[in-house]
Amino acid sequence: MTKKACIFNIQKFSIHDGPGIRTVIFFKGCPLRCYWCSNPESQLRTPEEMWDNQKKKNTVVGEFKTVDEIVAEVMKDEPFYEESGGGVTLSGGEVLYQAEFAIELLKELQKKGIHTACETTGFAKKEIFQEFIKHLDLIFFDVKHYDSKRHRDGTGVPNELILDNLKAALSEHPNVVVRVPIIPFYNDSLEDAKGFAKLFNDMGITSVELLPFHQFGEKKYSYLNRDYKLQDIPQLHTEDLDGFRDVFLSSTIDCKVQ
Ligand code: SF4
Repeated sequence: MTKKACIFNIQKFSIHDGPGIRTVIFFKGCPLRCYWCSNPESQLRTPEEMWDNQKKKNTVVGEFKTVDEIVAEVMKDEPFYEESGGGVTLSGGEVLYQAEFAIELLKELQKKGIHTACETTGFAKKEIFQEFIKHLDLIFFDVKHYDSKRHRDGTGVPNELILDNLKAALSEHPNVVVRVPIIPFYNDSLEDAKGFAKLFNDMGITSVELLPFHQFGEKKYSYLNRDYKLQDIPQLHTEDLDGFRDVFLSSTIDCKVQ
């Protein structure tokens, strides 16, 4: 087993990443390169320097941690999980990029009775993915595009493996939440809504969450000295997705904007 994983944040008292009060573990490293990524500092699997605008100096993002170190940190908040029905959510980056470590961590958390969730795009070998989801109570599964070529254009990888793993999750796991990040000029047209609706109907998916594009990551690109394609593109609001949502609803897919 990989003894340590590169983690770039452990966020406590989160109330947006699953039920109750949660600790979110952000894994560093992702095999995708979504050009809208709001956590560009999460993409490389190793620590890297980033400009800290508050301290006005470079700081290192990412630190290698053992399972025991993470569990010890997480368990400090056990009373809050118990009281609120919360737990731990693994996020990233893409947690499956360090799957072996993540599975060990999930096993330890489950031994201690902690509710486990993850946010994933499902890009991993099928056997690894199936083992991973056995140790989760809840899966947030992001689908970026219904068309494989367009998926590759936006993220650098095709979508076949991702959709295969989504099918496996839907048939093998009782709690899968399918989410779609809606990105201007990429997957936000009514044609796109119809494409997604057809895909989801074919897969038997009856509800999805839409994640409107935001600009929370805009400044990070300059702090990392990287180009950002969506500079100055206005963020989307709930009402901007009314047409998109109507297409889903008319395809009998329940739809919530987050
Ligand atoms: S999958 Fe997520 S973390 Fe990876 S590049 Fe895309 S948006 Fe960023």
